[in-house]
Amino acid sequence: MLKLNNVSVKYGNVIALENVSMEINEGETISIVGANGAGKSTTLKAISGLVKCHTGTIELEDQLLHKSEPEAIVRKGIIQVPEGRRVFPQMTVFENIEMGATLRKDKANIAKEIKEIFSRFPRLKERSKQLAGTLSGGEQQMLAIARGLIAKPKILMLDEPSLGLAPLIIEEIARLIKELQKGGMTILLIEQNARMALKLSNRAYVLETGRVALEGNAQTLLNDDFMKKAYLGA
Ligand code: ATP
Repeated sequence: MLKLNNVSVKYGNVIALENVSMEINEGETISIVGANGAGKSTTLKAISGLVKCHTGTIELEDQLLHKSEPEAIVRKGIIQVPEGRRVFPQMTVFENIEMGATLRKDKANIAKEIKEIFSRFPRLKERSKQLAGTLSGGEQQMLAIARGLIAKPKILMLDEPSLGLAPLIIEEIARLIKELQKGGMTILLIEQNARMALKLSNRAYVLETGRVALEGNAQTLLNDDFMKKAYLGA
Protein backbone atom coordinates (compact mmCIF):
# COMPACT_ATOMS: atom_id res chain seq x y z
CA MET A 1 0.00 0.00 0.00
CA LEU A 2 2.71 2.47 1.07
CA LYS A 3 6.28 2.02 -0.08
CA LEU A 4 9.45 3.95 0.69
CA ASN A 5 12.22 3.16 -1.78
CA ASN A 6 15.76 4.20 -0.80
CA VAL A 7 14.60 7.43 0.79
CA SER A 8 17.26 9.87 1.98
CA VAL A 9 16.51 13.13 3.78
CA LYS A 10 19.00 15.88 4.57
CA TYR A 11 18.72 18.88 6.88
CA GLY A 12 21.48 21.10 5.49
CA ASN A 13 24.53 18.87 5.74
CA VAL A 14 22.99 16.51 8.30
CA ILE A 15 21.87 13.23 6.76
CA ALA A 16 18.77 12.31 8.79
CA LEU A 17 17.70 9.33 6.64
CA GLU A 18 19.89 7.29 4.35
CA ASN A 19 18.49 4.83 1.80
CA VAL A 20 15.52 3.86 3.92
CA SER A 21 13.18 1.33 2.32
CA MET A 22 9.95 0.24 3.99
CA GLU A 23 6.65 -1.30 2.99
CA ILE A 24 3.28 -1.13 4.71
CA ASN A 25 0.53 -3.42 3.52
CA GLU A 26 -3.19 -2.86 3.99
CA GLY A 27 -4.42 -3.84 7.44
CA GLU A 28 -0.94 -4.18 8.91
CA THR A 29 0.45 -2.46 11.96
CA ILE A 30 4.06 -1.56 11.35
CA SER A 31 6.28 0.06 13.93
CA ILE A 32 9.41 2.10 13.57
CA VAL A 33 11.56 1.94 16.66
CA GLY A 34 14.88 3.58 17.45
CA ALA A 35 16.73 5.81 19.87
CA ASN A 36 16.50 9.62 20.02
CA GLY A 37 17.66 11.12 16.77
CA ALA A 38 17.50 7.83 14.84
CA GLY A 39 15.21 9.37 12.22
CA LYS A 40 11.77 8.12 13.27
CA SER A 41 10.03 11.51 13.12
CA THR A 42 11.85 12.38 9.92
CA THR A 43 10.44 9.23 8.32
CA LEU A 44 6.90 10.33 9.21
CA LYS A 45 7.60 13.85 8.00
CA ALA A 46 8.87 12.50 4.68
CA ILE A 47 5.68 10.44 4.26
CA SER A 48 3.51 13.46 5.22
CA GLY A 49 5.41 15.70 2.79
CA LEU A 50 6.68 17.98 5.57
CA VAL A 51 10.27 17.33 4.51
CA LYS A 52 11.41 16.64 0.97
CA CYS A 53 13.20 13.46 -0.06
CA HIS A 54 16.76 14.19 -1.17
CA THR A 55 16.77 10.90 -3.04
CA GLY A 56 14.37 7.98 -3.34
CA THR A 57 10.64 7.70 -3.84
CA ILE A 58 7.50 7.21 -1.75
CA GLU A 59 4.48 5.52 -3.33
CA LEU A 60 0.90 5.12 -2.15
CA GLU A 61 -0.98 2.43 -4.04
CA ASP A 62 1.54 2.68 -6.90
CA GLN A 63 1.20 6.47 -7.22
CA LEU A 64 4.18 8.68 -6.45
CA LEU A 65 3.53 10.61 -3.28
CA HIS A 66 6.75 12.33 -2.35
CA LYS A 67 6.33 15.30 -4.65
CA SER A 68 2.86 16.14 -3.34
CA GLU A 69 2.13 18.95 -0.90
CA PRO A 70 1.29 17.99 2.72
CA GLU A 71 -2.38 18.97 2.26
CA ALA A 72 -2.73 16.73 -0.80
CA ILE A 73 -1.18 13.87 1.17
CA VAL A 74 -3.74 14.33 3.98
CA ARG A 75 -6.50 14.32 1.35
CA LYS A 76 -5.21 10.97 0.13
CA GLY A 77 -5.88 9.61 3.62
CA ILE A 78 -2.43 9.62 5.22
CA ILE A 79 -3.17 11.03 8.62
CA GLN A 80 -0.55 11.82 11.23
CA VAL A 81 -1.40 11.96 14.92
CA PRO A 82 1.36 14.20 16.21
CA GLU A 83 3.75 13.55 19.04
CA GLY A 84 3.14 15.25 22.37
CA ARG A 85 -0.64 15.47 21.89
CA ARG A 86 -0.56 18.65 19.87
CA VAL A 87 -4.24 19.45 20.17
CA PHE A 88 -5.59 22.98 19.83
CA PRO A 89 -5.56 24.05 23.50
CA GLN A 90 -7.98 26.99 23.19
CA MET A 91 -10.61 24.98 21.34
CA THR A 92 -13.06 22.58 22.94
CA VAL A 93 -12.81 18.83 22.64
CA PHE A 94 -15.70 18.86 20.15
CA GLU A 95 -14.13 21.61 18.03
CA ASN A 96 -10.81 19.76 17.98
CA ILE A 97 -12.50 16.63 16.65
CA GLU A 98 -14.40 18.67 14.04
CA MET A 99 -11.08 20.15 12.87
CA GLY A 100 -9.94 16.65 11.96
CA ALA A 101 -12.63 16.52 9.28
CA THR A 102 -11.66 19.83 7.63
CA LEU A 103 -10.11 18.28 4.53
CA ARG A 104 -12.73 15.58 4.03
CA LYS A 105 -14.66 15.66 0.80
CA ASP A 106 -17.71 13.81 2.10
CA LYS A 107 -19.07 16.03 4.83
CA ALA A 108 -22.49 14.38 5.01
CA ASN A 109 -21.88 11.84 7.74
CA ILE A 110 -19.57 13.82 9.98
CA ALA A 111 -22.10 14.52 12.76
CA LYS A 112 -23.00 10.83 12.93
CA GLU A 113 -19.34 9.84 12.95
CA ILE A 114 -18.51 12.26 15.75
CA LYS A 115 -21.23 10.47 17.75
CA GLU A 116 -19.56 7.14 16.99
CA ILE A 117 -16.20 8.56 18.04
CA PHE A 118 -17.74 9.74 21.31
CA SER A 119 -19.14 6.27 21.97
CA ARG A 120 -15.62 4.89 21.51
CA PHE A 121 -14.14 7.61 23.76
CA PRO A 122 -16.69 8.16 26.56
CA ARG A 123 -14.25 10.31 28.49
CA LEU A 124 -14.04 12.74 25.60
CA LYS A 125 -17.83 12.76 25.32
CA GLU A 126 -18.15 13.82 28.96
CA ARG A 127 -15.68 16.61 28.26
CA SER A 128 -16.89 17.67 24.82
CA LYS A 129 -17.26 21.34 25.85
CA GLN A 130 -14.04 21.46 27.87
CA LEU A 131 -11.04 23.35 26.47
CA ALA A 132 -8.55 20.82 25.14
CA GLY A 133 -5.66 22.55 26.90
CA THR A 134 -7.19 21.64 30.26
CA LEU A 135 -7.35 17.88 29.55
CA SER A 136 -4.90 15.49 31.18
CA GLY A 137 -1.99 14.22 29.09
CA GLY A 138 -3.72 10.90 28.44
CA GLU A 139 -6.99 12.59 27.48
CA GLN A 140 -5.13 14.89 25.08
CA GLN A 141 -3.50 11.87 23.45
CA MET A 142 -6.92 10.24 23.08
CA LEU A 143 -8.26 13.47 21.59
CA ALA A 144 -5.39 13.60 19.10
CA ILE A 145 -6.22 10.05 18.03
CA ALA A 146 -9.96 10.85 17.83
CA ARG A 147 -9.15 13.88 15.66
CA GLY A 148 -7.09 11.60 13.40
CA LEU A 149 -9.90 9.04 13.11
CA ILE A 150 -12.55 11.54 12.01
CA ALA A 151 -10.34 12.26 8.99
CA LYS A 152 -11.12 8.68 7.80
CA PRO A 153 -7.52 7.58 7.47
CA LYS A 154 -6.28 5.05 4.95
CA ILE A 155 -3.13 4.95 7.03
CA LEU A 156 -3.06 6.22 10.60
CA MET A 157 0.41 7.30 11.66
CA LEU A 158 0.89 7.57 15.41
CA ASP A 159 3.95 9.49 16.58
CA GLU A 160 5.04 8.34 20.07
CA PRO A 161 1.53 7.83 21.51
CA SER A 162 2.96 6.61 24.84
CA LEU A 163 5.29 9.57 25.35
CA GLY A 164 5.20 10.91 28.90
CA LEU A 165 2.10 8.94 29.91
CA ALA A 166 1.52 6.78 32.99
CA PRO A 167 1.49 2.97 32.58
CA LEU A 168 -2.28 2.64 33.01
CA ILE A 169 -2.95 5.21 30.30
CA ILE A 170 -0.41 3.51 28.03
CA GLU A 171 -2.37 0.27 28.48
CA GLU A 172 -5.54 2.10 27.51
CA ILE A 173 -3.89 3.43 24.35
CA ALA A 174 -2.59 -0.06 23.54
CA ARG A 175 -6.16 -1.41 23.88
CA LEU A 176 -7.42 1.31 21.57
CA ILE A 177 -4.76 0.48 18.97
CA LYS A 178 -5.80 -3.20 19.14
CA GLU A 179 -9.45 -2.25 18.57
CA LEU A 180 -8.48 -0.18 15.54
CA GLN A 181 -6.49 -3.13 14.20
CA LYS A 182 -9.51 -5.40 14.59
CA GLY A 183 -11.49 -2.90 12.54
CA GLY A 184 -8.93 -3.31 9.73
CA MET A 185 -7.06 -0.02 10.13
CA THR A 186 -3.58 0.22 8.63
CA ILE A 187 -1.30 1.71 11.29
CA LEU A 188 2.23 3.07 11.31
CA LEU A 189 3.44 3.40 14.86
CA ILE A 190 6.51 5.35 15.91
CA GLU A 191 7.74 4.51 19.38
CA GLN A 192 10.77 4.79 21.62
CA ASN A 193 8.98 2.25 23.80
CA ALA A 194 10.13 -0.66 21.65
CA ARG A 195 8.51 -3.37 23.74
CA MET A 196 5.07 -1.77 23.50
CA ALA A 197 5.50 -1.14 19.78
CA LEU A 198 6.60 -4.69 18.99
CA LYS A 199 3.81 -6.21 21.05
CA LEU A 200 1.28 -4.24 19.03
CA SER A 201 2.79 -4.73 15.58
CA ASN A 202 2.93 -7.30 12.81
CA ARG A 203 6.35 -6.15 11.60
CA ALA A 204 8.87 -3.53 12.61
CA TYR A 205 11.80 -1.51 11.32
CA VAL A 206 14.63 -0.54 13.66
CA LEU A 207 16.32 2.73 12.73
CA GLU A 208 19.85 3.59 13.80
CA THR A 209 21.38 6.91 12.75
CA GLY A 210 19.09 7.22 9.77
CA ARG A 211 19.43 3.67 8.44
CA VAL A 212 17.34 0.54 8.78
CA ALA A 213 19.51 -1.58 11.07
CA LEU A 214 17.06 -4.45 11.44
CA GLU A 215 13.60 -5.34 10.17
CA GLY A 216 11.24 -8.23 10.47
CA ASN A 217 8.40 -9.96 12.20
CA ALA A 218 7.64 -8.18 15.48
CA GLN A 219 7.41 -11.39 17.51
CA THR A 220 10.80 -12.51 16.18
CA LEU A 221 12.33 -9.13 17.05
CA LEU A 222 10.91 -9.38 20.59
CA ASN A 223 12.98 -12.56 21.02
CA ASP A 224 16.08 -11.28 19.22
CA ASP A 225 19.21 -11.07 21.40
CA PHE A 226 20.44 -7.81 19.86
CA MET A 227 16.98 -6.23 20.31
CA LYS A 228 16.82 -7.44 23.90
CA LYS A 229 20.18 -5.88 24.75
CA ALA A 230 19.85 -2.68 22.78
CA TYR A 231 16.14 -1.81 22.96
CA LEU A 232 14.16 -4.04 25.26
CA GLY A 233 16.09 -3.57 28.49
CA ALA A 234 16.56 -7.27 29.12
P1 ATP B 1 13.30 11.51 18.74
O1 ATP B 1 12.83 10.19 19.24
O2 ATP B 1 14.27 12.16 19.67
O3 ATP B 1 12.19 12.42 18.30
P2 ATP B 1 13.81 10.70 16.00
O4 ATP B 1 14.23 9.28 15.83
O5 ATP B 1 12.42 11.03 15.71
O6 ATP B 1 14.21 11.20 17.45
P3 ATP B 1 14.50 12.75 14.09
O7 ATP B 1 13.78 13.81 14.82
O8 ATP B 1 13.92 12.21 12.87
O9 ATP B 1 14.80 11.52 15.09
O10 ATP B 1 15.98 13.28 13.81
C1 ATP B 1 16.93 12.59 12.98
C2 ATP B 1 18.20 13.44 12.86
O11 ATP B 1 17.92 14.62 12.11
C3 ATP B 1 18.77 13.91 14.19
O12 ATP B 1 20.17 13.87 14.10
C4 ATP B 1 18.27 15.34 14.29
O13 ATP B 1 19.15 16.14 15.06
C5 ATP B 1 18.24 15.77 12.86
N1 ATP B 1 17.20 16.79 12.62
C6 ATP B 1 15.87 16.64 12.80
N2 ATP B 1 15.20 17.76 12.47
C7 ATP B 1 16.14 18.66 12.07
C8 ATP B 1 16.09 20.00 11.59
N3 ATP B 1 14.94 20.65 11.43
N4 ATP B 1 17.27 20.60 11.29
C9 ATP B 1 18.45 19.95 11.41
N5 ATP B 1 18.56 18.68 11.84
C10 ATP B 1 17.42 18.03 12.17
